[in-house]
Amino acid sequence: MRYLIDLHTHTIASDHAYSTIHDYIRQAQESGMLMFACTDHGPALADGAHQWHFHNLRVVPRLADGVAILRGAEANILEDGEIDLDEASLGRLDLIIAGFHPCSPQNSDAKAYTRMLIRLIESGRVDILAHPGNPRFPFDYETVLECALEHQVAVEINASSSVNTRMGSHDNCVSIAKIASRLGNIVSLGTDAHISYFLGNFEESLRVIKESGLNEALIINRSPQAVLDFLERRGHPPIPELRAHFGQSQA
Ligand SMILES: [Zn+2]
Ligand SMILES: [Zn+2]
Repeated sequence: MRYLIDLHTHTIASDHAYSTIHDYIRQAQESGMLMFACTDHGPALADGAHQWHFHNLRVVPRLADGVAILRGAEANILEDGEIDLDEASLGRLDLIIAGFHPCSPQNSDAKAYTRMLIRLIESGRVDILAHPGNPRFPFDYETVLECALEHQVAVEINASSSVNTRMGSHDNCVSIAKIASRLGNIVSLGTDAHISYFLGNFEESLRVIKESGLNEALIINRSPQAVLDFLERRGHPPIPELRAHFGQSQA
């Protein structure tokens, strides 16, 4: 299956990324992508976006040149599962993904990272766990995925892990995908593009899906409706413009 929705991208709002929203829109048009989420890094990262970036994302159109844009953030996981987005940001975003980064607690053990992830999931503040296969931040996959399932938080299969960054993630991603498939977790695909040309390049995610035998019905990127259904179930307000454009759920 070809996935036409990318739920994890970065723009020049993060200095180590190199494309604008316009570049992504053009790339999406050229490659037939239907939707992407703009998910720049939270402010705790050295070159993350300012809180105001997230407050003002409402000026970004829902649809531009036929491409749907979700207003998102990739928050940084801090001590005790806190994240670095203020309430104003959280209330204005369509989706919040969160992951461990250089500003997260370093060199903790799996027990500590498991505790942070459980706290984060239980807080209700995050929709998607970003790049969970990162070997630098080990955790108890079974325990965290059970908690994610209970709270309907999605687990990401990241297409940049083991390709552009986070080398050594691949086998962990396969293990996580196997558990997700067995438990029935919600799964999200994100390229984590830091330049527009990588938008929708899910080669590594597809390798993980194939090797793990993941049930692709669990993947929300299968349709725009599945993404919108997921976000509404997570408690985000409906997005009428996108519902009108893509139609109601087929489920
Ligand atoms: Zn990340
Ligand atoms: Zn990212």
